[in-house]
Amino acid sequence: MNRRSLLAAYLRQQKELGMPDMVFGQAEKIRSLLFPRQGEKNVGLMTGPHGDAPMEKHKESKSVYGRGLARLSKLPPPSPAVREPGPSYAAAAPSVKTVHLTFEEKRAVFTAMYIARCGKCALAKTRTKFVFGSGNVDAPLMIIGEAPGAEEDLQGLPFVGAAGKLLTELLAGIAIDRKKDVFITNILKCRPPDNRTPGAGEVVACLPLVQKQIEVIAPRLLLLLGRIAAHALLGTVDGIGTLRGRTHEYRGIPVVVTYHPAALLRTTEYRRPAEDDFRMVARLLKGNK
Ligand code: URA
Repeated sequence: MNRRSLLAAYLRQQKELGMPDMVFGQAEKIRSLLFPRQGEKNVGLMTGPHGDAPMEKHKESKSVYGRGLARLSKLPPPSPAVREPGPSYAAAAPSVKTVHLTFEEKRAVFTAMYIARCGKCALAKTRTKFVFGSGNVDAPLMIIGEAPGAEEDLQGLPFVGAAGKLLTELLAGIAIDRKKDVFITNILKCRPPDNRTPGAGEVVACLPLVQKQIEVIAPRLLLLLGRIAAHALLGTVDGIGTLRGRTHEYRGIPVVVTYHPAALLRTTEYRRPAEDDFRMVARLLKGNK
């Protein structure tokens, strides 16, 4: 992707993240970072303290981004290095809720993460777009799917194809507006060719990014769609039939697991239990069991 289409994707992503003021407030700064004019002093990009996000060199300690990351960095790393998602994985990490970032700090950290993108695995070479996530960074609910499909890869946004339409419908069924009330992302940020199942190495490479997203958003509830998301974040290898219908926990956050919308499109019998799970999400968000 060239710089111009990166900027266009960035601006569109900001709009999708519900950050229009960010577009108008920061566009000139981003432009000067990406397309410095001749003679223009370029503040440059450097890697942040977590090694995965750029920041402006001279403003590190004062910037909202710097503050956000500094506060996040008070937390110990979310998990020890993991080779395979599995039962040993999720356990010991501290609660996500110990640090509360402001809306501005969340947006600043996400902006930097989005611009940095990721090249840790081979999918970075075959993707059309990096699919970071969309929605409200302050939402009480965060939804995590598996990986971008063909449409998501083209648009750079999660859940915009057929499964995404069904997800929007299921959310509407519990009066949740996907632009306002939720932040949606995937375990993988890049499309696996031919929509194949993500490999364990790809999941492990991408996991720190989604862990950071959860840490930044600190949602009140996580909804995991399908086994890839459930296995990666809960450290289990149980099937969805076993995991759904009750709550789990990820670093102090209650978690509901349900069938992936793509599975609902293939297997209509899953629709009713999935609707029950979405109702459970609505109850939990209202503070009822
Ligand atoms: N399936 C997913 O898991 N994520 C998407 O974004 C689209 C389809």
